[in-house]
Amino acid sequence: MKGVVILGSTGSIGQQTLDVIQAFPQVLRVVGLAAGNNLELLVSQARRFQPQAVSCLGPFEECASLFPPGTTFTSLEELATHPEADIVMVATTGKAGLQPTLAALQVGKAVALANKEVIVMAGELVTAWARRFGTPLLPVDSEPSAIWQCLQGDKNPIRRILLTASGGPFRTWTPEAVAKATPEDALNHPTWRMGKKITVDSATLMNKAFEVTEIHWLFDVPWQKIEVVVHPQSIVHSMVEFADGSVKAQMSPPDMRLPIQYALLHPSRLPNESLPRLDLTTPSALTFEPMDATRFPCFNLAREVGERGGTYPAALCGADEVAVELFLQHGIGFADIHRVLEQVVERHESVAHPGLEEILAADAWARDQVRELAKGV
Ligand code: MG
Repeated sequence: MKGVVILGSTGSIGQQTLDVIQAFPQVLRVVGLAAGNNLELLVSQARRFQPQAVSCLGPFEECASLFPPGTTFTSLEELATHPEADIVMVATTGKAGLQPTLAALQVGKAVALANKEVIVMAGELVTAWARRFGTPLLPVDSEPSAIWQCLQGDKNPIRRILLTASGGPFRTWTPEAVAKATPEDALNHPTWRMGKKITVDSATLMNKAFEVTEIHWLFDVPWQKIEVVVHPQSIVHSMVEFADGSVKAQMSPPDMRLPIQYALLHPSRLPNESLPRLDLTTPSALTFEPMDATRFPCFNLAREVGERGGTYPAALCGADEVAVELFLQHGIGFADIHRVLEQVVERHESVAHPGLEEILAADAWARDQVRELAKGV
């Protein structure tokens, strides 16, 4: 039995993680659940899965009676280091997952990382801690998971990573139309149903640049060996090319429960009848095309920032979180997201090889900058 803690259990990945756990009652059990403000769903999850401990924002005293008797209320960090946890699913969004991730790594709890901002903000620090404490850091994001799966049983050096991108909702839109896109347009992703922040990041292709950064740190692959390929069907989740020219791909219908299940159960692959199956015996087409990065300036900005390192990525992540929030509230336009982020990056004074304090300071500084800049938009 593996004890699982889910940070962000009421979000899209959190709910799908519970679906996976429910499919394997002999193998997986819920030890702890943490949510933000969706108390109603957290209570119903707690009643169903009977975790020992829960965490949520807001006053616990007022809601304690809603949870099953004996449930402990605790902080994210304590949940991430719970004595009965074997694996911590970090499915929070933005910077919320950073400190719990470090806490879990420090005490040897395997971290399944769905919250990619954690590794974008603090890739050097997080991977150094995973190495230092010998703790597994497991990808959950479908593309890094695909690469991880392609690398199983293969110790050969990687020649190139082909990171696939659906292209998001604006793949075929003109630049003029994209500039005027509304939150509703941006939230209409063609292949994936996800939380709002990541869906907007997928429309700007910021998400794809974050994945480049994630892959760089998780698999120690040089930046120039990571190439993005547009694959609108989201069936091939990424590919690895080896020295002899052989390319391995991982394919499956776009459903996050598969990479979640792999992170929780690897190296085992157990049958899960509720997962969709890929059927290539019926007429179907898998297409690939180069990405036109000039149409998605956030991609180039974030990729460059990832490569520059220091506290630039933390500043960009913090700034992006606020900019996306403002866009969703109709406070700024779609094209303003890039405009604002570029200015924040220009103004930022980066610290090389930052520790946690410097990373959090850069994040806080950048958030203030965006709020200030947005007033002038
Ligand atoms: Mg992804």
